[in-house]
Amino acid sequence: MVESNSSNYKRPYRPATLAVHGQPEQRRGNEHRALITPLVQTATYTYDDTADLCAFQEAKLAGNVGERLQYGRYGNPTVRAVEERIAALEHGEAALLFPTGMTAVTNVLLSILSTGSHLIYTDDCYSKTRDFINKFLKRLGIESTQVPMGDYEALETAVQPNTRVILSESPTNPYLRVADLEKIAAIAQQHRLLTIIDATFATPVNQNPLDFGIDLVIHSGTKYLSGHNDIMAGAAVGGAELISALRQSQGILGSVLDPHAAYLLERGLKTLHLRVQQQNQSAQAVAEFLESQPGIARVWYPGLSSHPDYEIAKAQMRGFGGVVSFEVQPTAGETPLAAAARIIDAVRLPYHAATLGGVETLIMQPALMSYYDLLTEERLTIGIKDNLVRLAIGIEDTADILADLSQALA
Ligand SMILES: *Cc1c(COP(=O)(O)O)cnc(C)c1O
Repeated sequence: MVESNSSNYKRPYRPATLAVHGQPEQRRGNEHRALITPLVQTATYTYDDTADLCAFQEAKLAGNVGERLQYGRYGNPTVRAVEERIAALEHGEAALLFPTGMTAVTNVLLSILSTGSHLIYTDDCYSKTRDFINKFLKRLGIESTQVPMGDYEALETAVQPNTRVILSESPTNPYLRVADLEKIAAIAQQHRLLTIIDATFATPVNQNPLDFGIDLVIHSGTKYLSGHNDIMAGAAVGGAELISALRQSQGILGSVLDPHAAYLLERGLKTLHLRVQQQNQSAQAVAEFLESQPGIARVWYPGLSSHPDYEIAKAQMRGFGGVVSFEVQPTAGETPLAAAARIIDAVRLPYHAATLGGVETLIMQPALMSYYDLLTEERLTIGIKDNLVRLAIGIEDTADILADLSQALA
């Protein structure tokens, strides 16, 4: 397991400290000397007079506009403060917030890819990311190749002269596959490609892709970063130049996070480390318990030695995350769909709901939640088995979660 103080941990502060303070040296003051980042709920900013406006414009042209802002679509102090916090946590120079994880994905890809360019992405990915690539980017003349997760030969073979980007999740949804980030970065460097990792499932507590040479990290802030299932948000973290270019695009595309959501995101971030540690611990216990049960055909969790990416996860991550997927063994005459439903309908503690990363444990069947519109065979071509259950662990007592699963299986 990568220790927080190991050599590839570039910053002096560890995740728990960064989650509360950001970089303490870069702590922003505010005119009220309020401890908490003020919620600046405004759509626009004012100027004393024309001379003041012109001075602002000159400073903007010179690139040193400081703390001053012009209009809500181009920036907000609350949002900026949370961006700095997330950049620090993810070991990036800068970060940009979005109103959802999907707007982070779509804005980044739209900003980087041009007609005639090519994108490589790994399978076992968020369904709407796949839909965006296949429905929107395709229409804009942006080609793509999907490669199997973990097949680095296929990844390198897929590189074309017009390839610009490699996109992967790590860990993936729902099989928790873990990408070898150093391998992806090495292939990308050789072919001068930009690498993007959607690290929503890992959180910056468990993994920092930028430390392994990845260019850009994306998060759905709706999940662990905010952690309370009460807001939607997205983030992109990377080098200052890339984030600055994305910020310019954001001003045009208009997908900005509302200041109030940013305020709640920062509030959630302060307990990120505590929550994720608890979720790591419970998920490991749940995965080991489920693996010992005869009614469970297979458990997918990167903290189990039976997981195909156990070794790379151990080398690359500080924890294995809060999501456990498992395949329920159908009883005689039971369909795979019904087998998974039997467990979902028998648990009492988790809510039956989509999403993950909040304080409440949630359970759902991907075949019926995200892929209901597909036939079993179509689902299987994208790897979604009918008997698969995804359990997103919350912060309840580990023993209570285990006892509930135990009664559901019995
Ligand atoms: C949820 C999720 C998204 C999309 O985020 P939203 O905030 O729901 O738009 C993207 N990627 C992954 C891995 C996710 O889990």
